Amino acid sequence: MQEPLFLDVPFQEKEQAKHLGARWHPDRKKWYVPEGMDKNRFRRWLAVEPSVALMPPLWLVEAPQRHPPQWMGCVQCGFDDNQCYTLAASGGHDESKPWQPRLTNELVVLRWMDAPPEAIAAAITRQAKGYFPDRSKQMGMRCYVNHCQQCGMSLYESYLGDRLAPFLAETRDWASRIRLYQLPIAEPVRVECSYIAGAAVSLLAEHAQRLLLPEPARLQP
Ligand SMILES: [Zn+2]
Repeated sequence: MQEPLFLDVPFQEKEQAKHLGARWHPDRKKWYVPEGMDKNRFRRWLAVEPSVALMPPLWLVEAPQRHPPQWMGCVQCGFDDNQCYTLAASGGHDESKPWQPRLTNELVVLRWMDAPPEAIAAAITRQAKGYFPDRSKQMGMRCYVNHCQQCGMSLYESYLGDRLAPFLAETRDWASRIRLYQLPIAEPVRVECSYIAGAAVSLLAEHAQRLLLPEPARLQP
Protein backbone atom coordinates (compact mmCIF):
# COMPACT_ATOMS: atom_id res chain seq x y z
CA MET A 1 0.00 0.00 0.00
CA GLN A 2 1.18 3.49 -0.82
CA GLU A 3 2.52 5.67 1.98
CA PRO A 4 0.02 8.43 2.86
CA LEU A 5 1.04 12.05 2.42
CA PHE A 6 1.92 13.16 5.95
CA LEU A 7 1.59 16.69 7.27
CA ASP A 8 3.58 18.65 9.85
CA VAL A 9 0.70 20.01 11.87
CA PRO A 10 1.60 21.89 15.09
CA PHE A 11 -0.55 20.76 18.04
CA GLN A 12 -2.31 24.15 18.22
CA GLU A 13 -3.46 23.79 14.60
CA LYS A 14 -4.84 20.26 14.74
CA GLU A 15 -8.51 21.33 14.79
CA GLN A 16 -7.90 23.41 11.71
CA ALA A 17 -6.28 20.49 9.90
CA LYS A 18 -9.11 18.20 10.90
CA HIS A 19 -11.68 20.74 9.75
CA LEU A 20 -10.02 20.87 6.33
CA GLY A 21 -10.29 17.09 6.05
CA ALA A 22 -6.94 15.78 7.28
CA ARG A 23 -7.04 12.39 8.99
CA TRP A 24 -5.12 11.16 11.98
CA HIS A 25 -2.79 8.19 11.55
CA PRO A 26 -2.82 6.44 14.95
CA ASP A 27 0.33 4.36 14.36
CA ARG A 28 2.48 7.14 12.98
CA LYS A 29 0.84 9.75 15.22
CA LYS A 30 0.64 12.22 12.37
CA TRP A 31 -2.04 13.91 10.30
CA TYR A 32 -2.21 12.95 6.64
CA VAL A 33 -4.05 13.86 3.43
CA PRO A 34 -6.77 11.28 2.61
CA GLU A 35 -6.46 9.71 -0.80
CA GLY A 36 -8.15 11.66 -3.57
CA MET A 37 -8.16 14.94 -1.65
CA ASP A 38 -6.38 17.99 -3.07
CA LYS A 39 -3.12 18.30 -1.19
CA ASN A 40 -2.89 22.03 -1.93
CA ARG A 41 -5.43 22.90 0.71
CA PHE A 42 -2.91 21.53 3.24
CA ARG A 43 0.05 23.28 1.69
CA ARG A 44 1.09 25.14 4.83
CA TRP A 45 1.67 21.83 6.64
CA LEU A 46 3.34 19.88 3.87
CA ALA A 47 6.80 18.84 4.94
CA VAL A 48 8.64 19.75 1.79
CA GLU A 49 12.30 19.57 1.01
CA PRO A 50 13.36 23.14 0.20
CA SER A 51 13.39 23.32 -3.57
CA VAL A 52 15.57 26.32 -4.40
CA ALA A 53 19.32 25.85 -4.69
CA LEU A 54 21.27 29.04 -4.06
CA MET A 55 24.86 29.76 -5.05
CA PRO A 56 27.34 31.41 -2.67
CA PRO A 57 28.20 34.06 -1.77
CA LEU A 58 24.91 34.72 -0.04
CA TRP A 59 23.89 38.09 1.31
CA LEU A 60 21.57 39.47 3.94
CA VAL A 61 19.96 42.47 2.25
CA GLU A 62 19.11 45.45 4.46
CA ALA A 63 17.07 48.31 3.02
CA PRO A 64 15.38 51.24 4.77
CA GLN A 65 11.64 50.75 4.49
CA ARG A 66 11.15 54.47 3.97
CA HIS A 67 10.67 54.71 0.26
CA PRO A 68 9.24 57.93 -1.14
CA PRO A 69 6.80 59.16 -2.13
CA GLN A 70 3.88 57.17 -0.69
CA TRP A 71 5.38 55.40 2.26
CA MET A 72 4.13 56.57 5.67
CA GLY A 73 5.67 54.44 8.39
CA CYS A 74 4.29 51.65 10.56
CA VAL A 75 0.50 51.71 10.44
CA GLN A 76 0.27 50.69 14.08
CA CYS A 77 2.83 52.85 15.91
CA GLY A 78 4.01 55.32 13.27
CA PHE A 79 7.68 54.35 13.57
CA ASP A 80 9.26 55.51 10.32
CA ASP A 81 12.79 54.20 10.50
CA ASN A 82 12.35 50.45 9.96
CA GLN A 83 14.86 48.38 8.07
CA CYS A 84 13.57 45.61 5.80
CA TYR A 85 15.44 42.41 5.17
CA THR A 86 15.62 39.64 2.67
CA LEU A 87 18.32 37.35 1.32
CA ALA A 88 20.20 37.45 -1.95
CA ALA A 89 22.47 34.92 -3.60
CA SER A 90 24.90 34.76 -6.50
CA GLY A 91 22.74 32.46 -8.58
CA GLY A 92 19.81 30.16 -8.09
CA HIS A 93 17.60 27.46 -9.47
CA ASP A 94 14.17 26.26 -8.40
CA GLU A 95 14.43 22.52 -8.84
CA SER A 96 10.68 22.10 -8.56
CA LYS A 97 10.45 24.17 -11.77
CA PRO A 98 12.94 22.52 -14.11
CA TRP A 99 11.84 24.69 -17.04
CA GLN A 100 13.19 27.81 -15.34
CA PRO A 101 16.70 28.88 -16.33
CA ARG A 102 19.54 28.09 -13.95
CA LEU A 103 21.05 31.43 -12.97
CA THR A 104 24.75 31.61 -12.28
CA ASN A 105 26.87 34.62 -11.37
CA GLU A 106 23.78 36.78 -11.24
CA LEU A 107 22.29 38.39 -8.16
CA VAL A 108 18.98 36.80 -7.20
CA VAL A 109 16.84 38.46 -4.51
CA LEU A 110 14.60 36.21 -2.46
CA ARG A 111 11.01 36.57 -1.37
CA TRP A 112 8.68 34.38 0.67
CA MET A 113 11.76 32.71 2.17
CA ASP A 114 11.51 29.94 4.75
CA ALA A 115 13.47 27.02 6.15
CA PRO A 116 16.97 28.51 5.81
CA PRO A 117 19.93 26.42 7.01
CA GLU A 118 20.83 26.94 10.67
CA ALA A 119 23.85 29.20 10.03
CA ILE A 120 21.70 31.59 8.02
CA ALA A 121 18.84 31.54 10.53
CA ALA A 122 21.34 32.40 13.28
CA ALA A 123 22.81 35.31 11.31
CA ILE A 124 19.31 36.65 10.64
CA THR A 125 18.39 36.44 14.32
CA ARG A 126 21.55 38.36 15.19
CA GLN A 127 21.44 41.07 12.56
CA ALA A 128 17.94 41.39 11.16
CA LYS A 129 15.67 42.61 13.93
CA GLY A 130 12.02 42.19 13.01
CA TYR A 131 12.65 39.60 10.26
CA PHE A 132 11.33 36.25 11.42
CA PRO A 133 8.90 33.49 10.39
CA ASP A 134 5.26 34.43 10.60
CA ARG A 135 2.08 33.80 8.72
CA SER A 136 2.24 35.95 5.61
CA LYS A 137 -1.11 37.69 5.17
CA GLN A 138 -0.40 38.23 1.53
CA MET A 139 0.63 34.68 0.74
CA GLY A 140 -1.54 32.85 3.28
CA MET A 141 1.42 30.71 4.29
CA ARG A 142 4.32 30.68 6.68
CA CYS A 143 7.51 32.45 5.64
CA TYR A 144 9.96 35.07 6.91
CA VAL A 145 8.12 38.37 7.24
CA ASN A 146 9.44 41.83 8.13
CA HIS A 147 8.00 43.39 11.28
CA CYS A 148 8.11 46.85 12.80
CA GLN A 149 11.25 47.06 14.92
CA GLN A 150 9.41 49.15 17.48
CA CYS A 151 6.01 47.46 17.97
CA GLY A 152 6.30 44.10 16.17
CA MET A 153 3.47 44.69 13.71
CA SER A 154 4.07 42.90 10.41
CA LEU A 155 4.99 45.38 7.72
CA TYR A 156 3.28 45.75 4.40
CA GLU A 157 4.40 42.64 2.61
CA SER A 158 3.92 43.27 -1.05
CA TYR A 159 7.01 45.46 -1.25
CA LEU A 160 8.68 42.88 -3.42
CA GLY A 161 5.84 42.85 -5.86
CA ASP A 162 5.25 46.52 -6.49
CA ARG A 163 7.15 49.52 -7.72
CA LEU A 164 7.71 50.95 -4.29
CA ALA A 165 9.72 47.96 -3.20
CA PRO A 166 12.70 49.00 -1.06
CA PHE A 167 14.76 46.23 -2.61
CA LEU A 168 13.81 47.07 -6.16
CA ALA A 169 15.83 50.25 -6.33
CA GLU A 170 14.82 52.45 -9.23
CA THR A 171 17.59 54.98 -8.80
CA ARG A 172 21.31 54.72 -8.14
CA ASP A 173 20.84 56.89 -5.10
CA TRP A 174 18.35 54.49 -3.54
CA ALA A 175 20.41 51.44 -4.49
CA SER A 176 23.45 52.92 -2.77
CA ARG A 177 21.52 53.04 0.54
CA ILE A 178 20.94 49.29 0.46
CA ARG A 179 23.44 47.12 2.31
CA LEU A 180 24.40 43.58 1.37
CA TYR A 181 26.00 41.75 4.28
CA GLN A 182 27.91 38.70 3.17
CA LEU A 183 26.86 35.57 5.06
CA PRO A 184 29.40 32.99 6.22
CA ILE A 185 28.24 30.41 3.66
CA ALA A 186 30.71 28.77 1.29
CA GLU A 187 28.63 25.97 -0.23
CA PRO A 188 25.38 26.01 -2.22
CA VAL A 189 22.38 25.82 0.11
CA ARG A 190 18.70 25.00 -0.28
CA VAL A 191 15.88 27.11 1.03
CA GLU A 192 12.18 27.47 0.40
CA CYS A 193 11.54 30.71 -1.52
CA SER A 194 10.90 32.35 -4.84
CA TYR A 195 13.28 34.92 -6.26
CA ILE A 196 13.68 37.75 -8.70
CA ALA A 197 16.70 38.61 -10.85
CA GLY A 198 17.59 40.59 -13.92
CA ALA A 199 16.54 44.17 -14.68
CA ALA A 200 14.41 44.59 -11.53
CA VAL A 201 17.48 44.20 -9.32
CA SER A 202 20.24 45.42 -11.62
CA LEU A 203 20.75 48.76 -9.83
CA LEU A 204 20.84 46.95 -6.51
CA ALA A 205 23.42 44.50 -7.84
CA GLU A 206 25.57 47.33 -9.14
CA HIS A 207 25.36 50.03 -6.48
CA ALA A 208 24.48 48.46 -3.12
CA GLN A 209 27.08 48.61 -0.36
CA ARG A 210 28.81 45.25 0.04
CA LEU A 211 29.79 44.61 3.63
CA LEU A 212 30.86 41.79 5.85
CA LEU A 213 28.37 40.71 8.48
CA PRO A 214 29.37 42.40 11.75
CA GLU A 215 30.91 40.04 14.30
CA PRO A 216 28.72 39.25 17.30
CA ALA A 217 29.49 41.71 20.11
CA ARG A 218 32.04 40.21 22.48
CA LEU A 219 31.38 40.22 26.18
CA GLN A 220 33.73 42.41 28.15
CA PRO A 221 36.08 40.32 30.28
ZN1 LIG B 1 5.18 49.83 14.69
